[in-house]
Amino acid sequence: QAKAAGRNALRFFDPQMQTAVNARMALEGDLRQALQLGEFCLHYQPQVGDGGRITGAEALLRWRHPQRGMVAPAAFIPLAEESGLILALGRWVLETACAQLLAWAAKPATARLSLAVNVSARQMRHPGFVDEVLATLARSGANPARLKLELTESLLVDDVEVTIAKMTALKASGLGFSLDDFGTGYSSLSYLKRLPLEQLKIDQSFVADVLTDPNDAAIVRTIVALGQSLGLSVMAEGVETQAQREFLFHHGCRAYQGYLFSRPLSAEQFDAFIAAR
Ligand code: C2E
Ligand code: MG
Ligand code: MG
Ligand code: MG
Repeated sequence: QAKAAGRNALRFFDPQMQTAVNARMALEGDLRQALQLGEFCLHYQPQVGDGGRITGAEALLRWRHPQRGMVAPAAFIPLAEESGLILALGRWVLETACAQLLAWAAKPATARLSLAVNVSARQMRHPGFVDEVLATLARSGANPARLKLELTESLLVDDVEVTIAKMTALKASGLGFSLDDFGTGYSSLSYLKRLPLEQLKIDQSFVADVLTDPNDAAIVRTIVALGQSLGLSVMAEGVETQAQREFLFHHGCRAYQGYLFSRPLSAEQFDAFIAAR
């Protein structure tokens, strides 16, 4: 017993583990500060519809770290979720996205574009979420019908009735919902038909090998058919090649996002991208 406790105590002071804990705490502090210092920005990846028309964009969060350069969300979103900082960060994302929508609304070339914003389950679970989104939209003057929220299946582990009520309230104001990374989570089909969704996004992991892996091809075909029968649009993410796009088109998928069309762009680059078309 004493020996075991001793081992645990020793493990607690394991310098490697202490280093990991310190790194986490440092990152969390950095994140908090980054929000105050204005080190975050949004990049915009074009979303493409039938015939190659640009229908909108997805807003993707970036951290312009003074030392580490551009940091991808995978490196900090999980920690922001665990620490609760995602609530403040999510508010900033939404405000910035609404301001962008308003800027787009002022120019004919971008006035009809929609903007998709990623929302984590933790944000959706927050009791004030619906009011906050509606207040942010109202303050910004952006058209709610141009805003799309991307949710993931992880939100289905929460109280589904509450989730449905929140989505319904937002939808009543004109917002649309897309289910992101579809096929990787634990969606139950009975919940799926009850959620007031507009779109399913096929996870990029299925798209990546759709031409070489018969299982991925079958999953993609199944998701497209499921979307069609539920009356939802289906968007493929991670489309990198013309051959993938052709496969998707052949099987009824009419909306795409991926490096084939464009990488995520800064706001200025995005405007130039639209102007060049
Ligand atoms: P996601 O929402 O599924 O976004 C798609 C990711 O795929 C983005 O990665 C995008 O840059 C990347 N991508 C797009 N096209 C291609 C392609 O053709 N090939 C490949 N290999 N990748 C492609 P990113 O920007 O690193 O974002 C990763 C994830 O971080 C997002 O996945 C989303 O879950 C999360 N995220 C990003 N911004 C936010 C945010 O503002 N709030 C929250 N809660 N999560 C965010
Ligand atoms: Mg997304
Ligand atoms: Mg996704
Ligand atoms: Mg993802």
